[in-house]
Amino acid sequence: MNYDIDKIRSYFPVLKKEVYNKPFIYFDSAASSQKPVQVLMKEEELHNEYYGNIHRGAHYMADKATNDFEGVREKIKTFINATSTKEIVFTKGTTESINLVASSFCERFVAEGDEIIVSEMEHHANIVPWQLAAERKGARIVKLPFNDSGILEIERLIELISDKTKLISVAHVSNVLGTINPVKEIINIAHHSDVPVLVDGAQAAPHVKIDVQDLDADFYVFSAHKMYGPNGVGILFGKEKWLNEMPPYQGGGEMISEVSFEGTTFNDLPYKFEAGTPHITGVIAFGAAIDLINETGLENLTAWEHSLLEYATAKLKEIEGLRIYGEATQKSGVISFNIEGVHSYDLAMLLDKMGVALRSGHLCADTVMAHYNIPGCIRISFGMYNTKAEIDAFWEALNKVRMMF
Ligand code: PLP
Repeated sequence: MNYDIDKIRSYFPVLKKEVYNKPFIYFDSAASSQKPVQVLMKEEELHNEYYGNIHRGAHYMADKATNDFEGVREKIKTFINATSTKEIVFTKGTTESINLVASSFCERFVAEGDEIIVSEMEHHANIVPWQLAAERKGARIVKLPFNDSGILEIERLIELISDKTKLISVAHVSNVLGTINPVKEIINIAHHSDVPVLVDGAQAAPHVKIDVQDLDADFYVFSAHKMYGPNGVGILFGKEKWLNEMPPYQGGGEMISEVSFEGTTFNDLPYKFEAGTPHITGVIAFGAAIDLINETGLENLTAWEHSLLEYATAKLKEIEGLRIYGEATQKSGVISFNIEGVHSYDLAMLLDKMGVALRSGHLCADTVMAHYNIPGCIRISFGMYNTKAEIDAFWEALNKVRMMF
């Protein structure tokens, strides 16, 4: 594998830090990844060299900022293989992208008595917006369950889909179980009944190749801050045929064509869904993060992270009383677990004092916790910069902590 880990780590200044006089080990990239110098420098360059508000200024700075901003839209189009930049809408994050579709799609296409299918392994961001929209419309959420290994029971999908089904929303990769869901197959089943599918790609976009045309996804959403980019930037990919039919999500500048007190006409795609000044700095700097992923090569990244996953899983399985949640063969670099008799919060606190940053609690996935009848768990998650040496250090720290209980 052509993977220069030392070079990659050198891009992330924060990884050289110590916490509590211990080398810093960052195993929380699924929550938010660290930022490389390329992204930090791009933010600084923009503000030092050519900042201006986009699309509206008749001056050099505004023009240059607009070109760069639209250049990143183009880059994202290529990154996910969309057919047109009209299908790429900038939002604040995955959460806002899902809220946009839930609100706007349901406004236009969902009526009383209709149903939206949502999987049982979703992040709260892919459940609550549908509940809110369903409540407004008198519609109903239907659960697509997963089994104890953390695999979606997609054979149930055919019986769950009916003429009341208006949309299916499912994660590409689960933020708790790490399962890489067979979204192409799900979309294929859904399309047989003319049901569109939203794919929550928050945990997939930094790790696996995405091709929205090959998947035939109707909507695909993700966040820049989990992809080594800035926080406050999200992407909504939507097929033009849907976005054209959907009403605007928010009103304001940029999303209009003409405004009068008699009425307003709306801008073309994608601007119809981009009211107000967007996160200009964040979007432009996100371009540098995408360049880094492209230079590293997604297939190299996937292979590297998979080797970390296999290595860490084998080591964790040596620990008596440790249960891993999520044992799909198609899995991304996320491992959630509990150790018998130890509260996940206590474990996380003690590991933090040993320099290991990880996540504990319900992981914004109460329905997954309910499935296993647990209040919470520990999650480690890997990024492009993690190493087997860090897994060894974490494993030793974990064993030390375990002895304390
Ligand atoms: N969906 C999944 C699968 C996630 O893991 C997350 C965040 O962890 C979200 C949605 C929400 O992302 P954001 O907070 O960037 O909007």
